[in-house]
Amino acid sequence: MNQEAVSLDRLPVTALKGVGDRLAEKLAKLGLHSVQDVLFHLPLRYLDRTRVTPIGALQPNVNAVIEGEIRAADIVYGRRRSLVCRLQDGSGTITLRFFHFSAAQKQRLTPGTRLRCFGESRRGASGLEFYHPEYESLDEAPALEQRLTPVYPATEGLTQLRMRSLATQALVWLERQAPAELLPEELRRELHQVPLAEALRYLHAPPRDADVHQLLEGEHPYQQRLAFEELLAHHLSLLMLRQQTQAEGAPPIVPDTRLERRFLESLPFELTGAQQRVHREILADLAKASPMLRMVQGDVGSGKTLVAAMAALAAVASGYQVAIMAPTEILAEQHRNNFGAWLAPLDIELGWLTGRLTPAKRRAQLERLASGEAQVVVGTHALFQQDVTFANLGLVVIDEQHRFGVHQRLELRQKGSHGGRRPHQLIMTATPIPRTLAMSAYADLDTSTIDELPPGRTPVTTVVISEQRRPEVIERVSRACEQGRQAYWVCTLIEESETLAAQAAEVSAENLREALPQLRVGLVHGRLKAKEKEQMMAAFKAGEVDLLVATTVIEVGVDVPNASLMIIENPERLGLAQLHQLRGRVGRGAEASHCVLLYGSPLSRQGRERLGVMRDTSDGFVIAERDLQLRGPGEVLGTRQTGDMQFKIADLERDAPLLPRVQKGAQQLLQTHPGLCQSIIERWLGENRRYLRV
Ligand code: ADP
Ligand code: MG
Repeated sequence: MNQEAVSLDRLPVTALKGVGDRLAEKLAKLGLHSVQDVLFHLPLRYLDRTRVTPIGALQPNVNAVIEGEIRAADIVYGRRRSLVCRLQDGSGTITLRFFHFSAAQKQRLTPGTRLRCFGESRRGASGLEFYHPEYESLDEAPALEQRLTPVYPATEGLTQLRMRSLATQALVWLERQAPAELLPEELRRELHQVPLAEALRYLHAPPRDADVHQLLEGEHPYQQRLAFEELLAHHLSLLMLRQQTQAEGAPPIVPDTRLERRFLESLPFELTGAQQRVHREILADLAKASPMLRMVQGDVGSGKTLVAAMAALAAVASGYQVAIMAPTEILAEQHRNNFGAWLAPLDIELGWLTGRLTPAKRRAQLERLASGEAQVVVGTHALFQQDVTFANLGLVVIDEQHRFGVHQRLELRQKGSHGGRRPHQLIMTATPIPRTLAMSAYADLDTSTIDELPPGRTPVTTVVISEQRRPEVIERVSRACEQGRQAYWVCTLIEESETLAAQAAEVSAENLREALPQLRVGLVHGRLKAKEKEQMMAAFKAGEVDLLVATTVIEVGVDVPNASLMIIENPERLGLAQLHQLRGRVGRGAEASHCVLLYGSPLSRQGRERLGVMRDTSDGFVIAERDLQLRGPGEVLGTRQTGDMQFKIADLERDAPLLPRVQKGAQQLLQTHPGLCQSIIERWLGENRRYLRV
């Protein structure tokens, strides 16, 4: 093979000297397959071996080069036998300590020997010490390093020395055959971006005067250059996906104003201004001949369901079917009830499909979907299994999208496709997504925000109370229920195990029944049969249960206005967004509502801070931003989402300031250089570019 001609992303790591199959396997664990991968595998930090620090000026816990003369060398028998040398220069003395040493070493390290050492200073028994420093004789007059020494992310069996050697070799390849520069010059200039090869060269071997602090923080312009390109790749992949989707036709949907009016007149309330505005935005999309890709964000209780129902109404009036998908059975059930109550009076036929139907019922429902008899179908993800066919699906509504990952969401989009046309897609989420994350994870979607709650809601008062005051809290539950109100008692677990969570909830329910014999205590968790859950929720809604003990299955959507008190046990285990969701279950009626965060003590400082945020604000957007600051994007988007959002170099939080430029650059590039876009995606998302599986 003529390696010269092969581009570096096709050149396997085994092309580097010293890399055999075994080493290649280890490198693969780090995601390093090609020489280009090695080039893009950037140092985590750097060591400065370019200058000598006077011993007297050493600080503890720093890496440094020192030079001096050995004044004493002794074997010390403490808890462990060690060789202890005292090294002195004009400014001070330091101890070098070796726990393992050979006879030859001991021979060499004798008083009078002049050494250069490199190591990390620590506080030891005799002041500052270096344990096992690297050293060399000063008499051989070695030259100091000219550049900073990189430290790479490595894995077991891969030494830094090895990693450095690979990087050095990869840099030689870079000189022969630099990876293509994929950012057009005009874009680079406009964004003040350096060429790719220059950035790579610099980052693997920065000059001694480089700004080390900036490098450590990942904020060096050359690092930012790469982060920018990576963010751009992710962004482009979503935009291209959007483009492909939109290139397909969609059923044009026009609302039936008479039907709409009849519907609105049947409601006991008026739409809020925000609901009206978002509804108009949706209608404008639906009227187009390309599929809508819109996300509706709105805080818990802002009335998203109604907006979805209005969109469904328009689709049905235009002769199309609507699929409404919820992430849980409970929520699907609730939508079924709501949509049933709203749409049945308008003679609209409802379908119902979840994974728990009996085979016979399932078959019957499938027939109704395939024939077009069912006009609006509510269900869980069972709606999009292989054997489900629709007669003429025009609109897909996905509720509480944050429960689904990005992949899942994109996959669903494919499945609704029918006869070369794609249904419009409406995605609803109650978890306000920090703007920076939204820009990255949802670049393929337009966004509407319902930023107003229906009138008459009283804000929920939140208190943070230690577990030690449980009896008081129980007393409080008792009082609330005696006044005819209802309460939730939510049990949380660290692990997402339904079985364990169910057990914990069972124990709590038992204890509460004992403590509150006068109350009707119900229990709902993920291990119950759908029927049982349904019955329990119905009983709670009907006021036949005073206190509902639950796991976080009630997190999303559940709507019982008379419930005005919520106790959350061990809230410190949950993310803020999830707590916000849970708390949104109360405060839905006119009654003043309360939420008690019953934490297990002692609470960590961060835990206290987080619960403090919950106490101080009920604004979902503020909470989302704080959550992002406190936990980072991976946690905020949820594990299901992070699989999709893994970056090699970029860090959404740190690099957030780049995002507006990424967004702008992506749009520009898509227009002017579609071919380059493909290559950028290829470079950064490579094999994992599941986004693009269209
Ligand atoms: P979410 O946005 O959390 O999904 P829902 O759609 O479940 O909120 O609505 C919460 C509650 O508010 C429901 O009981 C719903 O009927 C009611 N609601 C929706 N819109 C309005 C409105 N404009 N005025 C009064 N109540 C409303
Ligand atoms: Mg909802």
